[in-house]
Amino acid sequence: MRDYLKFYIDGKWVDPIEPKTAEVINPATEAVSGHISLGSPADVDKAVAAARRAFASYSETSVKDRLDLLETIQAEYLRRERELGEAITEEMGAPISLGCGFHTLLGKGHLGTAIEILKEYKFEEERGVTLIRKEPIGVCGLITPWNWPMNQTCVKIFPALAVGCTMILKPPQLAPYSAQLLAEIIDAAGVPAGVFNMIQGKGSVIGTALTTHEDVDMISFTGSESVGIQIQKDAADTVKRVGLELGGKSPWIVLDDPDLATNVAGATAGMMGNSGQTCSAGSRLLVPNARMDEAKAAAREACEGVTVGDPNGNFAMGPVVSMDQYKDIQRYIQLGIDEGAELIAGGPGKPEGLEKGAYVRPTVFLSNNQRTIDREEIFGPVLVMMGYDDLDDAIEIANDSNFGLGGYVSGQDLETARALSKRMRTGAIWINGAFDFHAPFGGYKRSGNGREWGEFGFEEYLEVKSVIGWNAA
Ligand code: NAP
Ligand code: MG
Repeated sequence: MRDYLKFYIDGKWVDPIEPKTAEVINPATEAVSGHISLGSPADVDKAVAAARRAFASYSETSVKDRLDLLETIQAEYLRRERELGEAITEEMGAPISLGCGFHTLLGKGHLGTAIEILKEYKFEEERGVTLIRKEPIGVCGLITPWNWPMNQTCVKIFPALAVGCTMILKPPQLAPYSAQLLAEIIDAAGVPAGVFNMIQGKGSVIGTALTTHEDVDMISFTGSESVGIQIQKDAADTVKRVGLELGGKSPWIVLDDPDLATNVAGATAGMMGNSGQTCSAGSRLLVPNARMDEAKAAAREACEGVTVGDPNGNFAMGPVVSMDQYKDIQRYIQLGIDEGAELIAGGPGKPEGLEKGAYVRPTVFLSNNQRTIDREEIFGPVLVMMGYDDLDDAIEIANDSNFGLGGYVSGQDLETARALSKRMRTGAIWINGAFDFHAPFGGYKRSGNGREWGEFGFEEYLEVKSVIGWNAA
């Protein structure tokens, strides 16, 4: 049982001002795995005041001081990486190989990247008579989701720390453990009091207290579209900067070439990773109509090959995050059937032998980009395939979405992939599975307005100041 009842405020582990707790449920067993405290606006006031006080000195620290801090955090993170992975598996159900693998690797990657960039970053630049100076924006509220907890937390905290901001982290109720351990790591590294604060609790309470707070300068939010819209409105009265990283329905175009079956299989298995709970998942798979039979067979085989079971066992996929999420995904699978999409693999209900736990059958549909399952983010292991006639048609389908987070192209002809990448209205395009911690990540359209990762992630937390007359004319 994990009982994480204290918050980290002003360099100390403290009790909530008004005691209130909530159970945390393990999605693999549906049993209580621990408890957290639920904070109140009074806790937020205390943390914001601490962050404001700390900003005065932390914003003036040298790059060297901040590099030292980040490198000490890095050593501590590496020391506790296994524990972090185990906490992720317990809180959100990722298989242990994924929890202790890609999940913690992403956090570590953002930390390492922040260190690399900080060594080189130009906070000042002279242009004619003017000095352009990039300065930390101030006190930041960081609000994160449960699906890739270390990724989303670290991609905010470390750039913010690197540039000299102070912050209050509000982790997701569904996945609060890894954030608690991360706060322990940052504390052990000797972060100055008030620079980093962490309060657990409800988004509607702690989140709202941050987004409406007079003394918070910026909100960085990753989560759903509906909450993103609310946050933008709540933050408007105090004219805060708001960085939004929202959902997606990302198209994956498979080119007509000899690798088609392999590429369809790879995209299908990829969709089921993390139980399909990835904002940038390639959830609409576009294949040439002329090769549809081959594509269907490859997708069916790959989908049926995805093993599902106990996240502490040796399975490719664990449960989804909660029984509520399970029910929501079941609703979509049933909608797909009711609206006439062709079921290629999987379907409603739980996988055989897994009655307890939020386990979903990996599922593939063939559809036409017009049904509910084609247009809404399901956030589960449900892939929708659709056919295209030619590449113009593929682009039209790919861009016919309210979202614009990711896009993928798989195929042998790099020139074709490059040409398609220019025409896709999304914030990132991945060609043939390439990966880069320095590539900016964020959405077009309703997928958000921010850019995280790498150098662009620094700029989220910086103000730009012009000092005109710095140089004589
Ligand atoms: P969510 O319901 O929007 O919650 C995200 C966070 O916001 C949680 O910490 C939540 O607190 C908090 N929150 C809820 N209501 C709030 C309010 N009124 N004001 C301020 N904060 C509030 O999202 P989710 O269900 O956890 O995550 C799934 C979504 O995240 C998907 O749509 C996915 O696509 C998106 N996502 C986007 C990216 C990206 O980078 N673009 C990455 C990952 C995930 P509680 O814990 O109380 O709910
Ligand atoms: Mg939610």
